[in-house]
This record gives sequence, C-alpha cells and structure tokens, in this order.
Amino acid sequence: MDPRVAQFMETVKEKNPAEPEFYQAVEEVAKSLIPYIDENPKYKHAKILERIVEPERVIIFRIPWLSDQGEIEVNRGFRIEMNSAIGPYKGGLRFHPTLNLGVLKFLAFEQVFKNSLTTLPMGGGKGGANFNFKGRSDNEVMRFCQSFMTELCRHLGPNTDIPAGDIGVGGREIGYLFGQYKRIRNEFTGVLTGKGLELGGSLIRPEATGYGAVYFAEEMLKTRGEFLKGKTVLVSGSGNVAQYTIEKINDLGGKVVSLSDSNGSIYDPDGIDKDKLKFIIELKNIKRGRIKEYAEKYGCEYLEGQRPWGIKCYAAFPSATENEITEEDARLLIANGCKVVCEGANMPSTPGAIDVYMEADILYGPGKAANAGGVAVSGLEMTQNSMRLTWSREEVDKRLKEIMQNIHATCVKYGKEENGFVNYAKGANIGGFVKVADAMLAQGVV
Ligand code: NDP
Repeated sequence: MDPRVAQFMETVKEKNPAEPEFYQAVEEVAKSLIPYIDENPKYKHAKILERIVEPERVIIFRIPWLSDQGEIEVNRGFRIEMNSAIGPYKGGLRFHPTLNLGVLKFLAFEQVFKNSLTTLPMGGGKGGANFNFKGRSDNEVMRFCQSFMTELCRHLGPNTDIPAGDIGVGGREIGYLFGQYKRIRNEFTGVLTGKGLELGGSLIRPEATGYGAVYFAEEMLKTRGEFLKGKTVLVSGSGNVAQYTIEKINDLGGKVVSLSDSNGSIYDPDGIDKDKLKFIIELKNIKRGRIKEYAEKYGCEYLEGQRPWGIKCYAAFPSATENEITEEDARLLIANGCKVVCEGANMPSTPGAIDVYMEADILYGPGKAANAGGVAVSGLEMTQNSMRLTWSREEVDKRLKEIMQNIHATCVKYGKEENGFVNYAKGANIGGFVKVADAMLAQGVV
C-alpha cells in the first residue's frame, strides 16, 4: 500500500475503534485522493481529507416501543450528519438488526461523494436503527417508526436534514415516519423523500436507484461499443433496488437470471420476465416472504445459503448489501465471462474483488456513482416539494438519465488513465471530492 495511505489510515483507525466498514470505505477513497491532494496543495493545507472523514455530528438515541404482546422493546437509533458543505444532510435510513455505528459512518461517508456527483445541492448523512421488521406486524412497525421519529424529528428539517429509505425502509416505513413528523411539528413539509405520491412523493423515486444503475451501465458499455440487449445478467437482492434494476434491464432487452435474499439465491435460466417480476414485488413488498418461494412457484433452482456469483453471465448488478462479492466470487465472475459489474448496493465488492476487476480490465461502476440515481431523484423530490409542483414520469426519468450521464462523464474526466483505461472508482472519488472540498475551502475553518 502507498505509505501515505497507510499512515493516514493509522490515524483514522486510532480515532474510530472497531469500525471495519468505515475503514474500508475511507481507505478506498484515500487511495484515489491522497495522490490528487498532493498535486493540489490547497486541499492539503486546509486539511480537507482529515476534516471530511470526521462527521459534523453523530446522534445516538433510545427507541422504546410496545410490541403487540404489550412487551417493552428497546432499539438504538442513529443519525450521522456527515457533511453539509454543499447542502443540507441527505441520505437514507436503514433498519437492520446488524446495524451499528461503523456501518452507518461508511454509508454516510460514501453519501457525501455520491450526492456531490449528482451536482444537486445535497450534503451527506445516513441513519437508521438496529430494528428487525421480520416477524413484526404492521402495527408494531408503525409504533416503532413513531418512536424513532419522536426523537429524530428535532434534528430534521427541509433545510437541515432530509432522510430517505434504505434497507428495511420502504414506502410503508416512510409513510409512518412522515405521519409522526407532521403530527409533532404541525408541518406538512418535504422532510423525507421516497414518500408516497399522496404525501408529496416524486414519480420514479421507487424506480430511481435501479433504473439509474442500468443507465450508468449502458453509459459504461457505450465506451466499448457494447450494450445489455440480448445479454445474460445477474442481480442480487430482491428489494427495491433489485426489482427496478430488473425492470429496466427487461425494457432494454437483457435477461436477468438470478435474485437473492439473506437466505439464498434463485437461478432462473429462462429469465425473470414482467409477470415474474410482479410476483416478486408482491412477495417481497406485501407478503414479505422469502425468495425461495419464487423457486417453488416457477420450478427453478434454489441455491440455499449461496450468492449468485457462480452463474455464467455478461453483467452483474450486486443490489443487496455490502461486501457481498468477495475476491473469490469476483474471480468466478470473470472466469464465467462477466464483462461489467455495476453496483446498485453500497460497497458490495470487497477491496480484493475490486482488484480482480481492475486486473481483468472489465467495466466496474462503483456504488457511489452507479447507484446515485436514488438520491438524485430524492433531490428532484425536494425541488418539487419546494415548488409545490409535480413533474410527470417522463420529465423525472429524463432528468434521472441526464444526471446518470453526467456522473458517467465526471468519472471519465477524473478517472481516465494515460493508456485510455477509465478507472471509474478513482473518477467517482475525485469527481465527488472536488465540489465538496472547494465548498469547505470557501467556508473557512468550520
Ligand atoms: P431492501 O430492503 O428493499 O432490499 C434489500 C435486499 O437485500 C433484500 O433482498 C435483503 O434480503 C437483501 N439483504 C439485505 N441485507 C442482506 C445481507 N446482510 N445479506 C444478504 N442479503 C441481504 O433494500 P434496498 O433495495 O433499498 O437496498 C439494497 C442496497 O442498495 C443497499 O446496499 C442500499 O444501501 C443500496 N442503495 C439503496 C438505495 C435506495 O434508493 N433504496 C439507494 C442507493 C443504494 P432479506 O429480505 O433477506 O433481508
């Protein structure tokens, strides 16, 4: 490792004990930024890197609530307000039993760069709770969301901090959170994005992350005269991002043959068509069932406890969670002919996996660029809320596509190497950094 990066990481580790996911995200960015900062000493003198890894504020709070049996349950809530140099804090809420401070800090850190890449005026944040909705009734989820928002609401505001969804937080949870915010603050404002249409939500927001990832992949492929049409594609996860990734790949004539959840994967060589996707959306968003039920219904293979990366494919869209593609998985993907990895999830590839993509010279779209479509349309939802206007589906989709094309162009601008190879990871890191760093410089030592 570059000794400058190693030295910087020592200080990060010392200050932030036991946060491995945060170290991973910071190191990946530092590898691109430290050489760039050395060439641009104004950032070095202002200690921008040292400041950007330190959250502006971390809020940790108790969430007491009553189960259907009348038992008192206690969860822990978090909000990381990472950086507000270019706009109010913006980033999703995650409800997952394994959630902890280090995971949220990695997500908030990534969010700062991602939001900057969209070119919209949004700072970075992330939050959530160690809550497991599995096996909980709708009423329990509602009471939990109300208790969560009762504390969090004092830190939010349409010009201060605007959360959205993430793993375990979809339309149902956003609705409950919005209702409680409105009740306490007596304000109907755009303080959350990903809202239902009747609450001021934007068309295309549910689709945005998945559609955006596919638009980004198409842009990368164009640079090599390729496209997704007629190609076999792997998708992991089966939630919001996975569902709309499949929809857009189908629209473009590709064939998705896999999906997964935390119990296993399905392999459907015939492809997940429109009707099958409808079944998945119902299964996951309404019945809240397991992906195994897809294999039972359509008589295809179910890979218990496995991820889908051993299946032959042209492109892979990891869309479940962090570190879901290991170095070994990446080698399997390459050996099976994979030419593109486009990250719908945040940090789904381990550092070893990324090294394998680079060695193999395949197209690798890092999450902070490839999945920025979700937050971009959240930004458009904020704009519509402020204007008290609703744009059409076509209008939002057009803007989303343009934003993804611009992010791609930024990655090429900052990531093109002398031999012509585009290092999208480097391009996204530097491209996302510059605007935030310049805004921090302009604001002095704050
Ligand atoms: P959902 O909760 O809708 O779906 C998550 C999916 O991933 C589920 O199928 C879930 O399976 C699976 N999953 C979650 N945790 C694990 C795990 N530890 N191991 C294996 N599978 C797991 O979340 P989203 O689709 O919204 O988010 C997916 C990814 O995309 C995350 O990395 C998120 O941060 C990222 N992302 C989301 C955005 C959005 O707009 N929603 C925007 C940008 C990035 P199970 O049902 O078994 O839990």
